[in-house]
Amino acid sequence: MKRLTDILAFGALAATLGIAVALQGNAGDSAAGANEPTVAQAPEQTGNSFAIRGARVFDGERDLGLATVVVRDGMVESVAANGDVPDGLPVIDGAGKTLLPGLIDAHVHAWGDAQRDAARFGVTTAFDMHGMVERLPMLREQRESLADTGQADLWAAGYAITAPGGHGTQYGFPVPAIEADTDVAAFIGERIDEGVDFIKLIVEDMSAYPGAPSLPTLTPAQVTQVIAAAHAGERLAVVHASTLADSRHAIEAGANGLVHIFADQAADAAFIADMRAADAFVIPTLSVVASFSGHGEGGALQADPRLADRLTAEQKATLAAAIPGLSANDRLEQALRSVHELHAAGVAILAGTDAPNPGTAHGVSMHGELELLVRAGLTPAQALAAATSLPARRFGIDDRGRIAPGLRADLLLVDGDPLSDITATRALTGVWKNGYPVERDAKATAGATQAAPEQALVSDFDGDALEANFGSWQPTTDQMAGGASTVEYRLVTGGAEDSKGALAITGEVLPGFAFPWAGMMFFPAAEPMQPVDFSARSELVFQVRGDGRHYSAMLFSGPSAQGMPSVQMFQAGPEWTQVRLTLADFAGADLSLLRGIAFTAGQPLGSFEFFLDHVELR
Ligand SMILES: [Zn+2]
Repeated sequence: MKRLTDILAFGALAATLGIAVALQGNAGDSAAGANEPTVAQAPEQTGNSFAIRGARVFDGERDLGLATVVVRDGMVESVAANGDVPDGLPVIDGAGKTLLPGLIDAHVHAWGDAQRDAARFGVTTAFDMHGMVERLPMLREQRESLADTGQADLWAAGYAITAPGGHGTQYGFPVPAIEADTDVAAFIGERIDEGVDFIKLIVEDMSAYPGAPSLPTLTPAQVTQVIAAAHAGERLAVVHASTLADSRHAIEAGANGLVHIFADQAADAAFIADMRAADAFVIPTLSVVASFSGHGEGGALQADPRLADRLTAEQKATLAAAIPGLSANDRLEQALRSVHELHAAGVAILAGTDAPNPGTAHGVSMHGELELLVRAGLTPAQALAAATSLPARRFGIDDRGRIAPGLRADLLLVDGDPLSDITATRALTGVWKNGYPVERDAKATAGATQAAPEQALVSDFDGDALEANFGSWQPTTDQMAGGASTVEYRLVTGGAEDSKGALAITGEVLPGFAFPWAGMMFFPAAEPMQPVDFSARSELVFQVRGDGRHYSAMLFSGPSAQGMPSVQMFQAGPEWTQVRLTLADFAGADLSLLRGIAFTAGQPLGSFEFFLDHVELR
C-alpha cells in the first residue's frame, strides 16, 4: 500500500538480515526481551476440556446474554443460558466478563514470533497476505490439528501476484511475476498447485503517493485474467489497490474483496454501489492507514496499562516505528469516511491490521483496529463480527469465527463489556486456542518454544525439490537492505560421499551495501525466524566444496528476531569436505531459541560458487 512499507514492513524478513547486518551498532536494545509477568493467569485447567459459566457471550454475531459454554476436547460442545456443566469438568467463573470468539486478523505479514504474539493478544487466526510457499503445508497441518500450539493459525496467499519489479518483489526472496507474455491461467494454476489458500493481487503504481517513484504493475487486462483464473481454481481473489480507479476495476473484474481501503480519495457513490452489487468486502487496514497518516494507534496501545505489560521488545519496536519524513495528513479521516459510508450501505467490512508495518504489531494492533472500526461508525458488536464471524464466512472457513457447538474452541475472555466499550477487549483474562489456555506472558512463551525435531539431518538435497526434513530453505541477499548482490541456487547431481545430489549456490557479491551478502538461509520452523529449541544439540555439520572462498555460517537466535547473528567462517575448497562447527562457539547464541542459519558469501566483491550437502544439527 505504501512505499515505506517496502523498506520497513513485512520486511521483517528483510529486517532480519538487513537490520541485523546493517545496524551493528544498534544491536543491544532489541534483545532486552519481554516484560514482567504478574497479571492473573487463567484458572487451573489441564487438557482442552472445560466450561465457562456466568460470562456474557458474544457468539460472533449476536449477544447471547449470560450463558454456559462447555468445551470438550478442543471443540465447543454446548452453549446454553443456564446450561449444566458435566461432572468433572474444570469450571471457569465468567462473572463480570464477556466471552468472545478468538479474533481473526484478516491482513497480516507473518514471520518470527507473529503467530505466538497474535495468540497472546487473543488473535487465534490470521490471513497472511504475501510470503513464501514452502511453509504452506505446515501451516495447513497446524490449523487442521487440535494441538496445544499457543499460536494463531494462518491462511496464506503464498506469493502475491505482481508484475516484474513491482510491489512485492523487493523483500529479498524471489517472487514469480507476470510478464507481458505470461499465460496467466497457467501461472495462477502453478500458484494454486503450490497450495495457496487464496489469490492476492497487487495493483500498485504508486500514483496515490505523490513524489514516490512509480512502479510497474499488472495491467487491467491481466488483473481481469488473474481474477478469472483464481475463480476457475476455486480460490478467492483479493486485491491490494491504492486508488479508487484501480479498486473499481478490480471489483468490476470480479474480485471478492479489497485488502486495503484506497488512499487517493474517499469512496464515491458509484463505487459504493459497485461494491454492494458485487457483494464484495473491504479489509480497510485502518491501523496502518492511521500510522501512515501520522495518527497511528501504536503509542496509545503501548501506553494502555491493559496491554503494556505483555508487549515484547519487538512489538514495542514496531508499534513505535514511524515513517521517516512523514508529515501528518488527513488520509485517516478520509479512510474513516469511506468505511463509514461503505458500511452504512451494507458492504462487508473485515478487520485487518497489516501488522507488523510501522506503527503496528501482531496481536495487539487488532485491539486498535477494533476501536478504529467503531470510530468509523460500526457498533462494537459489528466491529467484533468484523473480527470473528465475518472473515471466517467470507473466506469459507467453517470451523471457527463463532462460539457454537461443533466449532473449534478458540476463545477469549475479557473483563467488562466490549459491546458497550470496545476497548474492553484489551482487558484479557484468558485466551484459548483449540481449547488449551494460551500462555499470555511473553517471557514464559519464549521459554516454551517448540522442541527440536528428532532427526539431526536437515537436508541431504537428494530429492527433486529443495526440501528440508523440517523447516525450509530460502535464498537471501543484501537486496533487502538496498544492496545489489545476487544469488541463484539449484539442485545438482553428485553430492558428497557419492550421494545423489547437492545444493549449488552461485551468485555475485556486488557493491551497493556496506556489508554485502548473498547465499541461502535455513529456517527451522514453519515461519521464517520462528524459534525452535535446539539447546540439546552441539554441532552444525555439513559437507561443502566450492571456489576456495571463505563463507559465513550465520546463526540467528535469541528472544528477538532482529537480534544480531553469531558468525563462524568456513572455507569451500575444490574437494568435498565435512565442516563441523561447534554450536557453543557461535558467540552469544541462544540455542534454545534458534531462528535461522544462513550460509553466505560476503566480502570480497565478485562472483562465488559453493555446494552444500548433508546439513545436520547434531
Ligand atoms: Zn500488507
